Amino acid sequence: MPLEERVLEILVCPKCRGKLEHVVEGEAESLLCRACGLRYEVDDGIPILLLDEAKPI
Ligand SMILES: [Zn+2]
Repeated sequence: MPLEERVLEILVCPKCRGKLEHVVEGEAESLLCRACGLRYEVDDGIPILLLDEAKPI
């Protein structure tokens, strides 16, 4: 279930409040914050925007 573009526009990095970059790799989706160097996973269309769950890019 891909994220809708209009949803993406309101999502921001929970750390820096910056814009997120949507990346799709096959079935896996994630949101990247280049400024923080963090990757937030998208679980079945639901972005996990938690610092505790973020992984380094
Ligand atoms: Zn950030």
